[in-house]
Amino acid sequence: MAESVDVRDRIEDLREQVRYHNRRYHVEDAPEISDAEYDSLYRELEALEGEHPELVTPDSPTQRVGGEPLEGFEEIRHSVPMLSLANARKVEDLHEWDARVRRLLGDDESPRYVTERKIDGLAVSLRYEKGRFVRGATRGNGAVGEDVTANLATVRSIPERLDDDPPEVLEPRGEVYMTLEDFEKLNRRQEEEGKPPFANPRNAAAGAIRQLDPRITARRPLKIYLYGIGEGGEGFESHSRMLDRLKDYGLRANPHKLHDSIESVIEECLHAASERESLPYQIDGVVVKVDSREQQLALGSVARAPRWAIAYKFEPLAGRTKLLDIHVKVGRTGALTPQAVLEPVNVGGVVISRATLHNEDYIKEKGILIGDTVVVERAGDVIPQVVKAVVEERDGDEREFAMPKYCPVCGEPVSRPEGEAVTRCVNSRCPAQALEHIIHWSSKSAMDIDGLGEKLATRLFDLGFIKDAAGIYDLKAEQLVPLEGFGEKSAQNLIQAIDRSKEQPFSRVLYALGIRHVGAVTASLISRRFGGDDLMDGADVERLTEIDGIGEVVARAVVEYFDLEDNRDLVRRLMERGLDFEREEDGTTDGPLSGKRVVITGTLERPRSYYVERLEAAGGTFTSSVSKNTDYVLAGEEAGSKLARARELGVPVLDEAGFEELLSS
Ligand SMILES: [Zn+2]
Repeated sequence: MAESVDVRDRIEDLREQVRYHNRRYHVEDAPEISDAEYDSLYRELEALEGEHPELVTPDSPTQRVGGEPLEGFEEIRHSVPMLSLANARKVEDLHEWDARVRRLLGDDESPRYVTERKIDGLAVSLRYEKGRFVRGATRGNGAVGEDVTANLATVRSIPERLDDDPPEVLEPRGEVYMTLEDFEKLNRRQEEEGKPPFANPRNAAAGAIRQLDPRITARRPLKIYLYGIGEGGEGFESHSRMLDRLKDYGLRANPHKLHDSIESVIEECLHAASERESLPYQIDGVVVKVDSREQQLALGSVARAPRWAIAYKFEPLAGRTKLLDIHVKVGRTGALTPQAVLEPVNVGGVVISRATLHNEDYIKEKGILIGDTVVVERAGDVIPQVVKAVVEERDGDEREFAMPKYCPVCGEPVSRPEGEAVTRCVNSRCPAQALEHIIHWSSKSAMDIDGLGEKLATRLFDLGFIKDAAGIYDLKAEQLVPLEGFGEKSAQNLIQAIDRSKEQPFSRVLYALGIRHVGAVTASLISRRFGGDDLMDGADVERLTEIDGIGEVVARAVVEYFDLEDNRDLVRRLMERGLDFEREEDGTTDGPLSGKRVVITGTLERPRSYYVERLEAAGGTFTSSVSKNTDYVLAGEEAGSKLARARELGVPVLDEAGFEELLSS
């Protein structure tokens, strides 16, 4: 019993630490420990919870990865309606508003104003009960929104618990947004995956929050700034005081400034307009509020818009110019991106001569022709984009754009897979594409090199330590130790993880090569008929299509891959470094477990490989995760989350004796 008390304490302790550092990092932007240190705390917590699923609580920081997908969103009626604000387009509008406020308040009551940046995101309302996050909703029409609790729970800057003795019920309100940097990264990923790019950070944030699958939301880097309180916000004597309290509770309060006159407010609005470009996120104006709660109540509301607040809105950042030409740029992932060459145009103080056109389909859909007059938009440092053509200004000299057939970087033929929006260079040795391949190679579903994720791979690639997948195996611990975030131990761990990946079977290696159309299943089918040598010696389309489940498109992609000298060179070097290119044994044996999928978990009497071999000899398949399609789970001692999952899904659980019995049946 003593041990389980220790574990419980350790888990609580880890949760406290993770929560604390989450707050330092995500809320206060002042991390105290390195990412690697944080990861190690987080992983220890995750591991302990994995071993003790009964100790997992919904407010544990590990429970943010997103739950099961939803069918749709429930409606939620806001306990206190969410405000809508009157707009000021011009400085005069602010003067008028100030005059009205003063008139209504009377001469002897001079108002103090608060200004905050108006973030261009998605307004949401959070609900904390007894300090715990229980619900989150979109603004909707102000009275009724959608229940997006599961999605908001994945946002790191929304703490699962509040600090500093919050009221029984607290409904902080604010704006969920995406930084420009994260937005750019997301759009790059969208394009790599052949998906349409998002028009702007607001759409990307709103799309993420309105995702039915919270796991997708969890992958989108969202942030929140809070600027108000619904229920629980009645007792504050002023708006600025309320913002300060939000901070005490551990929430990310929108920064604010106080002003004694409307002149000072206007100065701030103009300053914010000039500064909008240098902010890491998009703002579309400044919100001005009367600070005193008492004065707010005295002023009241018209319809749903309070008389005590107004939004000063900026001009949009757009301009018109001539599209002179379209050039094609090759991204580091091999994606070919058409770029607009523009007659230089001043958009909100910045001269623009280049803009993105995303991809071939985007140009076609928008009907953009070379020579058109076009509208260009920009936001901060994000690459400006051409948003439309002004058709009325055509003179007949415009011409259509065509994607090149050869990669402008390496000269190899490009390819645009059916159903995808992106044309790409598929030469894995193309300098533009090498990094993406390294990331794929080490990913979990490929060679599963623990610790070599996108971030580190990019770093090592930029340092010139790894030039391609084979280069991973030449990495030395001595190269890593001097790097920030590394020590002797972590460097050794990575080298060991790299070495361990050499034990992966050929099917994994084949998948990891990243041949077009060759997913994990296809790779496994091929690996049972051909070894690496067979493929290098020229397995042709005909022989490949003899494999059940391999069609001509796949076969051709494989042949093309092994025809290309650069790819052959990479495969040779991988072979030299000891990667497994041996043909795999055919696992389709007839037996008592023919066609059954079995998960093996926990500590068993003999090594796991023993049970896997017996299982496969009996015609069964070993799978690593429990799902509805799992037929049996063989569970040894200390079986953790997989056992729990099996029970939840009603999958039959066997012990070793039960397993033997099944084999002899
Ligand atoms: Zn290329």
